[in-house]
Amino acid sequence: MFSISQDLYNYPEISGEEKQSSEKFKMILKEQGFHIHEFPEEELKYAFYAEYGKGHPMVGLLGEYDALPGLSQKGGSMVKEAVGASEPGHACGHNLIGTSAYASALAVKKYLEDTGKEGTVRFYGCPQEELLDGKVLMAKYHAFEGCDAGFSYHPWNANFPVYQGFLAMNNLKFHFTGISSHAGQAPGQGRSALDAVELANMGVNVMREHVISSARIHYVITNGGEAPNIVPKEASSWYYVRAPHRRDVNEITDRVLNCQKGAALMTDTTLSYEKVGGCYEILPNHVLFQLAHQNFHEMEMSPYTEEEKNLAKVLSMSLPEEQLKKDREVLGMETEGSYIHKETLSIEAAKSYPISGSSDIGDVSWLMPFSAIFTAAWPLGVNAHTWQSASASGSSLGQKGMLYAAKIMAGMAVDLMEKPEILREAQEEFRSRTEGNPYVSPLG
Ligand SMILES: [Zn+2]
Repeated sequence: MFSISQDLYNYPEISGEEKQSSEKFKMILKEQGFHIHEFPEEELKYAFYAEYGKGHPMVGLLGEYDALPGLSQKGGSMVKEAVGASEPGHACGHNLIGTSAYASALAVKKYLEDTGKEGTVRFYGCPQEELLDGKVLMAKYHAFEGCDAGFSYHPWNANFPVYQGFLAMNNLKFHFTGISSHAGQAPGQGRSALDAVELANMGVNVMREHVISSARIHYVITNGGEAPNIVPKEASSWYYVRAPHRRDVNEITDRVLNCQKGAALMTDTTLSYEKVGGCYEILPNHVLFQLAHQNFHEMEMSPYTEEEKNLAKVLSMSLPEEQLKKDREVLGMETEGSYIHKETLSIEAAKSYPISGSSDIGDVSWLMPFSAIFTAAWPLGVNAHTWQSASASGSSLGQKGMLYAAKIMAGMAVDLMEKPEILREAQEEFRSRTEGNPYVSPLG
């Protein structure tokens, strides 16, 4: 498993380009007797699932394998050290995510073989998580149908199952068209598309006071015109709208859209827009959350070597001291001198742990009872998308966290197969939480 995750680390592929990474997983899963299912849609060319077993329960394990542009880093290095100048890198540790799901799938296969029980395990090859739309697209083409429950893993700097978190979001692009003219000679004949972009942004900026305080609205101007002496005929902006719940994201998105429409009216320009994508927040499932928490305690993490402990210390110490202090507080870590979170967060601490990024695993949680787990693959204070998280993800420090996660997910899958009443309870909870509020694809 270490060498598989290292292989992936050594040929990082960004979202939408995961040809080698997806091929590798298909190959090794096929060798292990899994049946590979591919999708005919061009958008899903690097997505697949691999299945072993028969009948139900059917458990899905979500693997990811995309890297990030420009974050190349030598695995296990104590300093910022790119392998190639502008190369991508596994700074979000998706090499560990893919491999943990694979390891877990093999363990469940072994269990099914040994016991002769009825049940199916599926490894999902999920591309482009970093674009937040791989699983959204897979959901659009019904890739997750048939699963009774699903699990996923993400490397982190702490050990806990996720109860809720990740912000729902919408991704939109706005384009305004006006009339160009000479900005000095004949400004009266021009209608500035850039004015529209600026007025729309002003509208959104004053609106911030009147949306829920946990909402996040961010934009960039992707086209602001060609030169100051030409009234801009074309101008564009790109927005993300995020909030803890999808319903809030949809409501705020409508209001952001109204700001754009108002700006078009004010400036005598025309508006067109694209809904590029979006995703859901995690729908909690208390039954699976508790099952995950129990498995964190039942499984053991391999002990770290002195070398690994030292790498953790050096990576943590490269961060501002305040960041470490804050993390120690959040994680309830008292011991100065320890740079890896070893205990599992309590149920209460795990439930209230703030996660304010977005992820397309949220969509899967609205399609089946779902549990996401985080393990300490990165040292204290280290956040995703940094050279430190990349370095740890390409070392045995990260790989030990990955294997711990694989054991936990396999343990949970076996629990569901051994004790059907737990699965029934998880499904009942899922049904009651989604009743009257079913999944609607953010892609429309
Ligand atoms: Zn990630």
